[in-house]
Amino acid sequence: MIARTDTIAALATPPGVSALAVVRLSGGEAVDVAGRVFRGRRVLGELPPRTLAYGHALDADGAPIDEVTAVVLRAPATATGEDVVELTCHGGTRSAPRLLSALFAAGARAARAGEFTERAFLHGRIDLAQAEAVADVIHAETDLAHRLAARQIEGALSRGLSAVAESLRDALAEIEARVDFAEDVDGVAVPAAVADALSQAEAALERLLAGADLGRRAREGARVVLAGRPNAGKSSLFNALLGEDRALVTAEPGTTRDALAERVDLEGMPVRLLDTAGLRAAEAIEALGVERARRELDAADLVLWVVDGSRPETDEDRLVFAPLAGRPHVVARNKADLPLPPGSLEPEGAVRVSALTGEGLPALRSALAAALRGGRPAGAAAEALVTNGRHIEALRHAREAIAAARKGARDGAPGELVAGDVRAALEALGEVTGEAVAPDLLERIFARFCIGK
Ligand code: GDP
Repeated sequence: MIARTDTIAALATPPGVSALAVVRLSGGEAVDVAGRVFRGRRVLGELPPRTLAYGHALDADGAPIDEVTAVVLRAPATATGEDVVELTCHGGTRSAPRLLSALFAAGARAARAGEFTERAFLHGRIDLAQAEAVADVIHAETDLAHRLAARQIEGALSRGLSAVAESLRDALAEIEARVDFAEDVDGVAVPAAVADALSQAEAALERLLAGADLGRRAREGARVVLAGRPNAGKSSLFNALLGEDRALVTAEPGTTRDALAERVDLEGMPVRLLDTAGLRAAEAIEALGVERARRELDAADLVLWVVDGSRPETDEDRLVFAPLAGRPHVVARNKADLPLPPGSLEPEGAVRVSALTGEGLPALRSALAAALRGGRPAGAAAEALVTNGRHIEALRHAREAIAAARKGARDGAPGELVAGDVRAALEALGEVTGEAVAPDLLERIFARFCIGK
C-alpha cells in the first residue's frame, strides 16, 4: 500500500448558499496547514483531538475571511487514516472558496475526486467494497438503494466475502501441504475437509449471488417505457405516476425530443419512466418507427402498456401489443372512471386505473414494482448484499473457479491444478475487496466520486 502524506483540502459540502460549509483537510501536514490559517484562543496543534475550537480564518495577508470552528482528528483513527482537520465556516459563494485559497497558499493541495475515500482505502480503514458504497450512499435515489449502500459501508458484504475467503485459504493450505509431498505419495488425494470447505464457499457465493440481480436493479435503477396507442392516456398516466413519487433529483439530461424521461421511486426501486412517442402505432407502421420502437423496447426493463379501458379493443391496440409479447410488461386499463364498453371483459392481469381520478394508482405502482422484482416480495430486495455490477462479475468468476476446483478434487486432478483454481477464486474475491485490483481500475472507481469525498 502506498502511503501518501501530502496534504489535501476540499469543500465537503455543496457550493452555494447554505447556513454552513465544511472544508476538510487530510494528510501529514493537515494540522500545520490549517494552523497557519486559523486564529483562535487556542493553537490548533495544541488542541486536544476531537474538540471544537472557535476562531477566525485569515487569508495570506492576515485579513479575516470568516468565523470558523475547527476540529482536529489525529491519525490513525480518522476517516482517511491520516491527520484530518475539519473547518466549518459560513455558507454562501465567498467564504469557503476564500478559505480554501488560504489553505492552498498555506501548503495544501486541491483534492482530486474521491481522494479522501481513496486514502481511507489505501490506509486500510475500509476495503474497496466499502469505499464504493460511500459513492453509492451519496448517489442513492431511493431509501432502498440508500439502505443497501449503508449496509455495504458498514461491512456486511465484506464480512460475507471474508468468510468465503477464509474457507478458500484453509482449503488451499491443505492442498498445498499435500502437493509438497506429492512426489513421494502417488498423486494428491484431496481430503474430505477440503471438499467440504470448497462446497461451503461455493454455497455462500451462491447465496450472495441469488439476490444480486435485485440488488443491482435497486442500485442502478430500471427503465420502464410506456407504450400504447394515441389517446390511451400515456401522458396522463406518466404524470399521475410521477405525482408525489417524483424522485428528488435534478432534471434528466438525456431527455430526447421523442421521449420524456423522469425518475420515480417505486417501492424503493429507482425507476426511469419514459413516455415515448416512438411507440405509437401510427408510427410503428412505418419502417423507421418500428425500428425506433424496437430500440426503445429493447432498452426497457419493463413495458407499461396503456390501453383505453373505455373503448373496445382496436386493431391498433393489437398492433402496439405485438412487439410486447414475450417481454416483461404490465397492462394498465386506463380511464377506469368511465364505464366499460358494453360487452367488453375485464382482461386478466390488467390493472384498472384512472389517470384522471387517481383510482388504482397504488395498485399500478405495486404491480410495476413487483414486476421489476421478478415477482419476488418487497423484502427480497432489501436483503440483497451484492448490488454492484463489477462485484457480480467478480463473484461469478470466483464461483466458477471454485466449481472447477471441486470438480478437479473429485476427479483426482493434480493438486497444483486444484490449488490454481482456488487461487483464482481468491483473486476474484480480492477484486471486490480491493486486495487484488489493478491501479487503473482503482483510478476509475474513485473518479466516480465527487470532489471532497
Ligand atoms: P396519450 O396520447 O396516450 O399520451 O394520451 P393522453 O394522456 O394525452 O390522454 C388522451 C385523452 O384522454 C386526454 O383528453 C386525457 O384527458 C384523457 N384521459 C387520460 N386519462 C384519463 C382517465 O383516466 N380518465 C378519463 N376520463 N380521461 C382520461
